[in-house]
Amino acid sequence: MEYRQLGNTGLKVSVIGMGCEGLSEDNYNMAQKMFDAAERLGINYFDLYASDPRLRQAVGRALRGRRDRFMIQSHICSVWKNGQYTRTRNLAETKAGFEEMMTLLDTDYLDVGMIHYCDAMGDWESIVDNGILDYARELKKQGRIRHIGLSSHNPLVAERAVTEGGIEVLMFSVNPCYDLQPATEDCEEMWADRNYQKQLTNMDPDRQRLYEVCQRMGVGITVMKVYAGGELLGSNQIAGVSLTPNQCISYALSRPAVSAVLPGAHSVEELEQSAAYCEAGPEEKDYAAALASFPRVSWVGHCMYCTHCEPCPKFIDIASVTKFLHLAQARSRVTGHPEQCADDGDCQIPETVREHYAALEHHAGECIKCGACEGRCPFGVAVRENMEQAVKVFGY
Ligand code: SF4
Ligand code: SF4
Repeated sequence: MEYRQLGNTGLKVSVIGMGCEGLSEDNYNMAQKMFDAAERLGINYFDLYASDPRLRQAVGRALRGRRDRFMIQSHICSVWKNGQYTRTRNLAETKAGFEEMMTLLDTDYLDVGMIHYCDAMGDWESIVDNGILDYARELKKQGRIRHIGLSSHNPLVAERAVTEGGIEVLMFSVNPCYDLQPATEDCEEMWADRNYQKQLTNMDPDRQRLYEVCQRMGVGITVMKVYAGGELLGSNQIAGVSLTPNQCISYALSRPAVSAVLPGAHSVEELEQSAAYCEAGPEEKDYAAALASFPRVSWVGHCMYCTHCEPCPKFIDIASVTKFLHLAQARSRVTGHPEQCADDGDCQIPETVREHYAALEHHAGECIKCGACEGRCPFGVAVRENMEQAVKVFGY
């Protein structure tokens, strides 16, 4: 298993986590088996959004005696009402739901308390206005949640929440198909067939910017819908091409700020299949050719951080240099222009980005402009221009 820092939280999480929605509601034996398997596979992080008390209790029982071996990302505002799951923005319901959840999970803290499922600007405002964000902050002060998170499918709402709301962990839907689609308050739109029948060009800029803003701010992203609910696998093919689980996971883990993916597991075998990613070779993880063959999608000129352009005769890690260049240039749409980008001649690149760039063994300044990389890039990226830009931005 590989592990990554979860943004600035100080938590070190397995890159493969577990979504608990596939556990049967009232089956303690299944939960026990899944957590046994997770422990064996080195998985130390899981998400629990479901509010069914039987499921929460089964998870709580399965965690007995090993609470400290797992980090829990569980959702506040996801409550059980009239015998069914309900998302609430009512403060009293949220508080009662949190207390019940802690009792059922038999724990006195959550590692990440997620404000559940916010896809609309008006909904974010009600989270603030109804006192839910303040309540999450209070829980953090009390140590009952260690970090405040938020789950969303909408890049504009998510960016606003991380830049205005002090959100430390973002659970976001990341996969190559949703990344093509513009922000919407109706997440059904992201898998509507008609949206993949038209010609699409490159990643949606709001999504790209969200990942970069999160990376710059030290907000860790945990990924839901890494397989687009299964639509990217097998014969479903929402964009006309199918990918393998390893390709989907590799794509998500290559986006800036992403720390872990959380595929929902319905069986030990599914969990093992996801964890097998860490044993897979580079060819199995390579998503570039599959993406380049999407019939109605042009990625032209857009670096997908796939590393296909390597090897470089000067040993430059082209994908990393390009990623750091983009991070240096990223700016927040919501907060305006908190940090000047290089183009404005008054560059304030976050220290972490400078440090990561400095830590590379070879830098853009070593590029001899041979062009070999551009011949190998499936996405027509002007690598030489990017190397020139990186020299301007970082100085070497
Ligand atoms: S320049 Fe092209 S080949 Fe290289 S990492 Fe970017 S997209 Fe991949
Ligand atoms: S053009 Fe520069 S970055 Fe690309 S392969 Fe040649 S030396 Fe490496």
